[in-house]
Amino acid sequence: MIPLSCEQGPIRPPSEAYSLLLRVTRNCPWNRCEFCHTYKNEKFSLRTVEEVKEDIHTIQEIISEIRSLSWRHGLGGESAAPLVNLILQNPQHYSDGFRQVALWLYNGGNNVFLQDGDNLILKTEQLVEILNDLKRTFPSIERITTYSRSKTVSKKSLEELQALKHAGLSRIHIGLETGNDPLLQYIKKGVTAQEHIEAGKKVKESGISLSEYVVLGLGGKGMWREHAMDTAKVLNQINPDFIRVRTLKVLKTMLLYQKIEKGEFLPMIDDEIVEEERVLIEHLEGITSTFVSDHILNLLQEVEGKLPEEKEKMLKLIDRYLALPKAEKNNFRLGRRGGVYQSVEDLSKPELRDQVERALQQIEYEKPGGIEKILSDLMEAFI
Ligand code: SF4
Repeated sequence: MIPLSCEQGPIRPPSEAYSLLLRVTRNCPWNRCEFCHTYKNEKFSLRTVEEVKEDIHTIQEIISEIRSLSWRHGLGGESAAPLVNLILQNPQHYSDGFRQVALWLYNGGNNVFLQDGDNLILKTEQLVEILNDLKRTFPSIERITTYSRSKTVSKKSLEELQALKHAGLSRIHIGLETGNDPLLQYIKKGVTAQEHIEAGKKVKESGISLSEYVVLGLGGKGMWREHAMDTAKVLNQINPDFIRVRTLKVLKTMLLYQKIEKGEFLPMIDDEIVEEERVLIEHLEGITSTFVSDHILNLLQEVEGKLPEEKEKMLKLIDRYLALPKAEKNNFRLGRRGGVYQSVEDLSKPELRDQVERALQQIEYEKPGGIEKILSDLMEAFI
């Protein structure tokens, strides 16, 4: 066992799949959102600048170790595929941190994601010191990103955000979730639509790239239209660089589940969520954001594009799905959730379609009407 290891948090955004993960704080200082279970029962804590710097230097040692392993395997010091495979396939010899550094190097070693949920809670000078150390140690770094909350961002001055930008912070990922105030209260987001707007605008003004996350289905059957319309209104005022959507799936470990049990929150089914997504996109106006659907839980991952020029294209992709007969929709939903299809276009591939059709018939034979439960289980498996 090679003891070299650095601390890792539980998650990162889908777009940071190949980024180096550097834990700067632990868990989430808010931790009350009812649709989120990531840090439930975990206590928030700050890591000291020294602790983070130690991890940066451990990562440097891991890189040296990987380079010498590469030479020993005749790969000329490069982090080539056979070496990365060897490291990834031997978790008994290499720590999680070691393996992710190997994967990072293999993917170019350019991007870093700072974990966990809200790093702007650190004093600006501390975060600047970490960013400086990171860039000094790894000059190949091109992009450094982090999660933060609008509430926290709003407490930073424009000058502080500019200092972070200057030190190398390239992008902030913010969970907007919704722009509807009653829904923000209902899910206990701890922020208002106006605060989202002010924080988002300030990030943009500082020159730091901004990703705003929206949860499709968050309003349930009762509030879906207000959710879509008000979210579009807030996004129209912020004009973030990226609007990223992810579909709600409520697990028993989430507080929102208790509202479902009481019959107070009615989750939406796929078609309703797609309809909601249509209303959201339709009302995005006057902005130049890139709409991204990179979360595995989204039914229509092909609905992506640059606004405003690709808005019509996105709406047409949604309409193509909505116009399918029910049996076709079910075939697509099962194939998509089961990893057979990438997009609705794949329905035109007979070999894939027949494979999914056989699975559907089997489900109907074994448990008539059991498709929704299977789809729900498949979604849960991704969280
Ligand atoms: S702020 Fe983010 S990480 Fe924290 S509880 Fe809410 S959704 Fe989860």
